[in-house]
Amino acid sequence: MLKINENYLKLPGSYLFSTIAKKVKEFSEMNPDKKIIRLGIGDVTLPLAPAIITALHDAVDEMAKKETFKGYSPDLGYEFLRQTIIEHDYNSRGVTLALDEVFISDGAKSDSGNIQEIFDVNCKIAVCDPVYPVYVDSNVMAGRTGEYLTDAGRWTNVIYMPCKKENNFAPELPEDTPDLIYLCFPNNPTGATITKSELQKWVDYANNAGAVIIYDAAYEAYISEEDVPHTIYECENAKSCAIEIRSFSKNAGFTGTRLGYTVIPKELKVGDVMLNSLWARRHGTKFNGAPYIIQAAGAAVYSEEGKRQTGEQIAYYMNNARVIREGLQSAGFSVSGGVNAPYIWLETPKGMTSWEFFDYLLLNANVVGTPGSGFGPSGEGYFRLTAFGTLENTIEAINRIKQL
Ligand SMILES: *Cc1c(COP(=O)(O)O)cnc(C)c1O
Repeated sequence: MLKINENYLKLPGSYLFSTIAKKVKEFSEMNPDKKIIRLGIGDVTLPLAPAIITALHDAVDEMAKKETFKGYSPDLGYEFLRQTIIEHDYNSRGVTLALDEVFISDGAKSDSGNIQEIFDVNCKIAVCDPVYPVYVDSNVMAGRTGEYLTDAGRWTNVIYMPCKKENNFAPELPEDTPDLIYLCFPNNPTGATITKSELQKWVDYANNAGAVIIYDAAYEAYISEEDVPHTIYECENAKSCAIEIRSFSKNAGFTGTRLGYTVIPKELKVGDVMLNSLWARRHGTKFNGAPYIIQAAGAAVYSEEGKRQTGEQIAYYMNNARVIREGLQSAGFSVSGGVNAPYIWLETPKGMTSWEFFDYLLLNANVVGTPGSGFGPSGEGYFRLTAFGTLENTIEAINRIKQL
């Protein structure tokens, strides 16, 4: 008899962003004259940089000629891109990697969602709370999370590591030992980072416990402070416990063109099994490579022009982040993030819940943000604004909030 994978039936029904979309739609239908400003978006808005567009056009032209046409790309990705990544993202930070330790993919969402497949269903996962929902939901699909406790907003088999104002939004080493530890720095949604010596503690902990860290560094390009690590492999002995996931989405605007990569060092073993070989095997079976034209465009991100142009885009977003952070601070809000990440995390005023503040802001300032409770139980009482809008809209939104 045909049956559905029952793990999928456990997934929470109403998804955060669809609930937001519904509320915004209702409000705008009832108030057609109001200009709504969306600072909830987790997507870039500036067009691809000229150097990237040129590389894309050139690659398309290659596809049009018999001599330079490309079919399937190599399983792990083109060498030209993996080599460029290793030089610019790793060698420049004192980290050496072999070409076959880098796996090119169609983005960090799929990699962070898929990587759990190579681990046993009984492995215990630990996540920062609030959390990027993909880490938890992909483990729900795999049947690893136990049951959902609706009132508590949590899964019975997941170790939640609260990240709140009291601990500077940095997780503490869990008492209950996990097998897989998801870390994301700079963090979405809180915008928080940890220092290299703090990250070293996690690496030492994982090596001692025989745990694997899945390190999501999608916002690496937004780091502005000195002692914040750009890659987990800056920490000693990280290669024996950490997988790193990166994306071209937030640093170079590839959210619509899709490109990312995952690093699995050969030192990373569970017993005698090299995770690198397992992932290569999995990649070869379930993934047929990122498109050549997109990988060619990805390499252009690392050219002199590409670096300068994408750097200017990041500076634009981070100026928005500054406008939001400073504006809210001057209006008396308690604010964090927005220094090494395009996310500003604020405490809701007057004891409002995250959703109450969402409604209040939509109704009175016509500004849309994201309720913190949607990212996990410790997100209750917090709210996320993003720096991906236009400068004009960002300034207007903050002025409206100041007048509340
Ligand atoms: C946006 C984001 C990603 C990027 O995903 P892509 O699939 O590469 O677009 C990964 N992790 C986090 C935490 C993100 O916010």
